[in-house]
Amino acid sequence: EQGRAVRQRLDEGDALNRWTGKPFSSRYYSILEARTKLPVYQFKDQVLKSLEDNQIIVVEGETGSGKTTQIPQFFLDAGFEERGVIACTQPRRVAATSIAARVAEEMDVNLGEEVGYTIRFEDVSDPNKTVLKFVTDGMLLREAMSDPLLLRYSVIILDEAHERTLATDVLMGLLQELLPKRTKGSKHGELKLVVMSATLDAKKFRDYFHGAPLLKVPGRTHPVEVFYTAEPEPNYLEAAVRTTIHIHQCEGPGDILVFLTGEQEIEQACEEIREKALALGQDLPELVVYPLYSSLPPQQQRQIFKPAPGPRIPGGPPGRKVVVSTNIAETSLTIDGIVYVVDPGFSKQKVYNPRVRVESLLVSPISRASARQRSGRAGRTRPGKLYTEKSFHNDLQETSYPEILRSQMSNVVLTLLKLGIEDLVHFDFMDPPAPETLMRALEELNYLGAIDDDGQLTEVGYQMSELPLDPQLSKLLLISPDYGCSSEILSIVACMSVPQIFMRPRESAKAADAAKAQFTHPDSDHITLLNAYAEYEACPDSEKKKWCWDNFINDRSILSAGNVRKQLMGLMKKLDLPIVTSDRKGDGSFAYTDIRRALTSAMFMQVAFRQQSGVYLTVKDNQKVYIHPSSVIISRPDWVLYEEFALTTQNYIRTVTVTNVDWLVEAAPHYYDLENFPECQAKAELERAYSRLKFSKK
Ligand code: ADP
Ligand code: MG
Repeated sequence: EQGRAVRQRLDEGDALNRWTGKPFSSRYYSILEARTKLPVYQFKDQVLKSLEDNQIIVVEGETGSGKTTQIPQFFLDAGFEERGVIACTQPRRVAATSIAARVAEEMDVNLGEEVGYTIRFEDVSDPNKTVLKFVTDGMLLREAMSDPLLLRYSVIILDEAHERTLATDVLMGLLQELLPKRTKGSKHGELKLVVMSATLDAKKFRDYFHGAPLLKVPGRTHPVEVFYTAEPEPNYLEAAVRTTIHIHQCEGPGDILVFLTGEQEIEQACEEIREKALALGQDLPELVVYPLYSSLPPQQQRQIFKPAPGPRIPGGPPGRKVVVSTNIAETSLTIDGIVYVVDPGFSKQKVYNPRVRVESLLVSPISRASARQRSGRAGRTRPGKLYTEKSFHNDLQETSYPEILRSQMSNVVLTLLKLGIEDLVHFDFMDPPAPETLMRALEELNYLGAIDDDGQLTEVGYQMSELPLDPQLSKLLLISPDYGCSSEILSIVACMSVPQIFMRPRESAKAADAAKAQFTHPDSDHITLLNAYAEYEACPDSEKKKWCWDNFINDRSILSAGNVRKQLMGLMKKLDLPIVTSDRKGDGSFAYTDIRRALTSAMFMQVAFRQQSGVYLTVKDNQKVYIHPSSVIISRPDWVLYEEFALTTQNYIRTVTVTNVDWLVEAAPHYYDLENFPECQAKAELERAYSRLKFSKK
């Protein structure tokens, strides 16, 4: 019957692509055939009718039913693009880019023309041509700052709403305020909202949006048989590798999806699975292993969709594909052919403690809802099998807390203030953040000079909101010209906005350390990054790749740092901020002290002080921390500032620079104000600094 639908469209003379005016490729038809078999396809008329009659609809459907790839195209088929662009948000960059590529392929158009994507620091869309845009939720929020009524758009699709990311939650609140201003017949035309979700929480969205109609797309699921490990596994990574190999040896054809928590773990597991499979010899079918995590280059991400290899000998059993993924594969991306799921039951989750102002990613047990989603990935095309651990299944939390309850909020608060929303307490959050978290955010913005004592956005705050960075880094860029080193600070901020540029493969750790030593500034990880970047920049383009290889630098990371740097420089120019270098003699020697002072002036809230006992305590919050072993700093200085507080087995601070008390009290006397300072060893040091500085000023 589906084949008939395709043919019918052909008979109707639909044979020219309406976007390109050209005949469709044969690939188009083969994909179309598959598309018409997706469960949502049957709901096309219902979705369109419902959206015609309502401003807001909620769509709930099993993962893999075709929501993300098909529903936006329904709106194009109905001609919505004539009223404005259609935006579909994704919580993850990987999903935004890979789904855009897929949909462009489905529509037989070039990515970046009719179909595009926008993620932070990367815009592959054409303002004059793009009709459908996949965009991270954070970027749409950013767009709202310059286009508060979202006038460019006719339909906003909030996809993966069940993930309840911070940006999606804030967007929902904003849209609550915005939609009444863009109803049918209003001056700017109607803006439609489609909220899409994979799980059963859809009712919660319907209630939040005042009873918007809820459409349920039934999925096609097959039974999933569950296998538990007999004993709790002390090392889940090892267990996952072992289980994967066991499946390959003992189970029939079908691909395997393994859930782990992050890049390092995933790469290690891939390596071990490959080694073990190789050791099994040629008697078993071929096994290919692909990693999937967000910092993976796009071409490599796309590999996961390649079909499994064929049989080794004609007529023999087919080969097998293994994808080892973060929870990207939980609901964002669907890989066909998965029959076996290995789920140790963990993911990296953000946690925030406003009392000590620490936000960290922590490997934590997933929720029961997540576990269900993961197991569902096995039974999509035929009955599947799930391998997991029993103990963990018994005491899982039903759903995870929305991110807004687990995040620091200063960036969001800045965005909301820029949008003119001052009454944060009465803003219609689906789950309001803790008052303490909001207070902390306001306090931090106030210390940074972004808002005044009445909570009003200042000129500095306005400028900060223009930069797509966390407030402290924005502030760092803003003040850098005052220290005569905005060019260097740009490089540092760019390097901090991309995945780690220094590589340290286990098997060649010594050589990697030696390579890094050439760039090392003994007082600063930030400057060490700068030195590496500057040398890379100076290297002729044709030799850059080799240079990266020789120096254990991640070439893709540093390349995108260059790209980020260019964009940030453009934004700084727009804000009339001069780009000045501290290399005043032009001989490649930077004014390191000025750079460290600039860092101090922006990052004075992330400082630790060495106690007499030798341990470091964070200033004001008194958290015991250790300098991360990857840091270049070995001298155990009194005062250090840090970029990141990583909560792992120990409290580590990462990306560290030596600072000193005089700079701190000069840069931030309002923060290092003795009257409100808790009693501690750092305070005594500060008191001495104040009297010394007063003395020297005479
Ligand atoms: P949902 O949003 O409901 O989870 P999607 O629209 O993402 O579903 O996916 C529907 C189907 O499209 C998938 O089951 C898969 O078969 C196919 N698909 C999606 N992306 C790709 C891709 N990049 N390559 C091949 N097939 C894809
Ligand atoms: Mg989807």
